Amino acid sequence: KLSARLQHIADWLPAGCRFADIGSDHALLPVAAVRSGRAAFAIAGEVNDGPLEAARRQVAEAGETGRISVRKGDGLAVIAPGEVDAITIAGMGGALIASILDEGQAKLVGVKQLVLQPNVGGEFVRRWLLKHDWYLVEEAILEEDGKIYEVMKAEARTDAGEQNNELYRERELEGCQVKLTRELQLLMGPRLMAAPNEVFFAKWESELRKLESIRQSVATSALETSRQKEAELTRLSEQLKEVL
Ligand code: SAM
Repeated sequence: KLSARLQHIADWLPAGCRFADIGSDHALLPVAAVRSGRAAFAIAGEVNDGPLEAARRQVAEAGETGRISVRKGDGLAVIAPGEVDAITIAGMGGALIASILDEGQAKLVGVKQLVLQPNVGGEFVRRWLLKHDWYLVEEAILEEDGKIYEVMKAEARTDAGEQNNELYRERELEGCQVKLTRELQLLMGPRLMAAPNEVFFAKWESELRKLESIRQSVATSALETSRQKEAELTRLSEQLKEVL
């Protein structure tokens, strides 16, 4: 049985898709997705030998070597152009996820859906999606084993006219109850802000406490850079308080 986190990702895959799971480690997601019939074919990509071997073993033990191809490589390098229609990248930092997408842009041709689960730094992922005309269609936030995870589903916009339309970009972020800056929406997630749940509040209340303690420690410093940092943190704290 998959963890709630991985199950959420699997549930957001398009039915019958061909997908690549990048940084697959134990390949639990590809195995569950092909077994349930959610995916017709999967690539499990891994850059490191240990997790690559774990993936190979898992796929062989599941008897799924016909439907799951385990490949060694960095990021999207394991995919041939046009080979998959969806990509999952889960369980790593948002900055790494964004850099994998950025470096693999040529492999995104024909990909209709991304399901991304940054452990931290969700704002890097949202910023990348927005910049590259991926539409953030759904976001979820969930808690499992005392950790909080964000899951994002993004769809490629195929209409070139709409892709380049600034209004469309604005529309992507509409639905927020409170008028807030774009930066805050990228940080917290526009869809999560529009329909916040208990986990969302728990996450940001804890982040706010952390921010306040950093702010207090820089506040005692006379350095000019600390003054600037303090001003930034104060602004962010105030904005967060407005949402919470
Ligand atoms: N995706 C699984 C999950 O969510 O449970 C495994 C997450 S695991 C913490 C992150 C995996 O990403 C590691 O196995 C690591 O080797 C792999 N990884 C890190 N950078 C990568 C890259 N550039 N390309 C492919 N895999 C990468």
